[in-house]
Amino acid sequence: MERESYREAKQRLEDVEAHIQSACRRAKRSRSDVTLIAVSKTKPVSMLEDMYALGIRDFGENKVQEMLEKQEKLPGDIRWHLIGHLQTNKVKYVIGKVTLIHSVDSIRLARVIEKESAKAGVITDILIEVNVSGEESKFGVSCSELLPLIQEISKMEHIRVKGLMTIPPNVENSEENRHIFAQLRKLSVDIAAQNIDNVSVAMLSMGMTNDYGTAIEEGADLIRVGTALFGSRSYR
Ligand SMILES: *Cc1c(COP(=O)(O)O)cnc(C)c1O
Repeated sequence: MERESYREAKQRLEDVEAHIQSACRRAKRSRSDVTLIAVSKTKPVSMLEDMYALGIRDFGENKVQEMLEKQEKLPGDIRWHLIGHLQTNKVKYVIGKVTLIHSVDSIRLARVIEKESAKAGVITDILIEVNVSGEESKFGVSCSELLPLIQEISKMEHIRVKGLMTIPPNVENSEENRHIFAQLRKLSVDIAAQNIDNVSVAMLSMGMTNDYGTAIEEGADLIRVGTALFGSRSYR
């Protein structure tokens, strides 16, 4: 018999999947162009195991220690996404263990990722986090800092820029964030036009529980969904 918690997870995933598919239809995009990242921060391993059993292979965590602890207990074919702010002193622990770092927002952090990746003999894929809205409380580079940062990183041999990420303001109505998603896409088009060696900004990581439908309509490739899949988080 299926456990109650498993049934709940299954229902939540079905609801999210239906929502993704309807957004893809509205946007005339293929479902396979959108990757659902299950944001499992603060949630116990058992809940990740349920999502894994239901077919999820991309998980997002925002804390290095928590990600590494969960990694040890879960299957090796999971793609781990580090979506939270990364401190330079933690970089050495994640190199070689993450599929994608979504939150690079300074040259200083990039230099440490480069150094540790070289040491480990790997190339690390990253996204640049952009603070599109300009909210003071947010991490991320401003739109005007973006190109210089990417140009600097493009010279680093052990980092590959794959795209852009943004965390929009918390709003009631996701329509209020549509222009932010559209602007991130425009930034990626502008940067792609520069044809910088070793850099692709094709991948857009945007959209969370409250707004992933809108983000898909505006071109999101990676959506980061926590609450809709795992229920609300309680922080102690
Ligand atoms: C927590 C978090 C999410 C998921 O947020 P939900 O609203 O629970 O879907 C997505 N992205 C980042 C960077 C986060 O920290």
